[in-house]
Order: sequence, then structure tokens, then C-alpha cells
Amino acid sequence: MASATNAVAIDRETVERIVRQVALEYLGRDKRGSAPVLTVQASSRHMHVCRADMDVLFGPGTDLTFDRPLFQEGNFASKETVTIVGPRSRLISNLRILGPMRKQSQVELAFTDAIMLGYSDLPVRLSGDIKGTPGAVIIGPKGVVELKEGVIRAAIHAHMNPAEAAYFGVKQGDMMKLRVGGPSGVTFNNVHVRIDPKSRLNVHMDTDEANACGLHLTKDVEIFK
Ligand SMILES: [Zn+2]
Repeated sequence: MASATNAVAIDRETVERIVRQVALEYLGRDKRGSAPVLTVQASSRHMHVCRADMDVLFGPGTDLTFDRPLFQEGNFASKETVTIVGPRSRLISNLRILGPMRKQSQVELAFTDAIMLGYSDLPVRLSGDIKGTPGAVIIGPKGVVELKEGVIRAAIHAHMNPAEAAYFGVKQGDMMKLRVGGPSGVTFNNVHVRIDPKSRLNVHMDTDEANACGLHLTKDVEIFK
């Protein structure tokens, strides 16, 4: 009979490996247990609009016009653009709106854009987390909206579905690391995990981050805990 002293302790790594295998086999995604394919993309500055702001900017009852699909199912770049005016009266025109519409309007800028517009200390937030962030004036073809808040730098994040999260052994809100190889290689240490059943594995960074690591120069990317 096994006593406490010779009971087999299963280490954390083994537990995680077993959970990964079971999850992958259960969901039938990849029975060989190989890593899901990682796509890393740079998001240019953009805006998300709510219904009420859409009405003001483009006219009552107007809809976003589909231009091209984004990697995450259901998301798209629209044909609509606006102009953003920052705190120092400088502006950026042709700010693309991404669909579908959201509950709250939000502008996502790279630090370079923010500094140019006069935001000296733009908060880094996950999309949707805009409480207490700076505002902006947004000019559309039919009207002007003053956003009280909603201008952020989007935190680098990884979209994944539950099977992919199980493969990596991570849960919602965890941080992972992203290694980008190539001649300007960088490792990002705080990649936020965002899990959704409709997602597929995909890291989003902004254009400053992408330019810093030379993302366009390499296909050598790896995400890990
Ligand atoms: Zn994203």
C-alpha cells in the first residue's frame, strides 16, 4: 500500500501536458499535439464607433461599409474614415473605422501617432477598457463628435480559442511572451491572453511595436508562457 512518502507526485509540467493532450484530442484539432499556427499582425491606428456616434459622423441610420475582412472572424475594415483632432489641435485624417459597431467608441493609436497629436502619456489598455482615458474630437463627413474618453494605445495581445489556450496552458488574462526573430528580433514580455470560442491564434501589436521588431522582415515568431 502506498504511503504518503512514496506517492508519485505529478509535477505541474506533466499536468499541463496531459491537459493539453486531452483538450486537443477532445476537440479533434490536432491529434499530433503540434503547436497551433501563429499569425502575428500589426494593427494600424483605427477607430471603433458606437451607433450614436455613427449617426452623428455619417448620418442617422447609416451603416459601416464592408471593405475587407480581418483575421478574426466577423471583424472587418470599413470604407469609412474620420479625422481625429488631438489636444494640441493637430490632426490625423483618414483614420479607418473597423467594424462591426461597438457599445462604445474608441480610438487605438500607436505612441508615435499619440505624441504627434499631443498626447504625452497615452494609457496602454486592452480594447474596451477605456475608463479614465483621454478624449478627442472626431470629425466625420456629416458631423463632429467630442469623445470624452476612449483614446488608447492597445496593449499587445493574443487572441485564441479555448483549445489553443489549453495547448499553451493559459487562461483569460494571463500574460505570454512573443519572440520575434529576424535581424531586428525582439521578445515582448507582456502579451495579454484573450480567449474566445470564435477566435483563432493571432497576436495583435501596433505599428510602433511591429516596426521596432522588424515584423515584416521575418516569419520566425513564437509564443510561449
Ligand atoms: Zn486584437
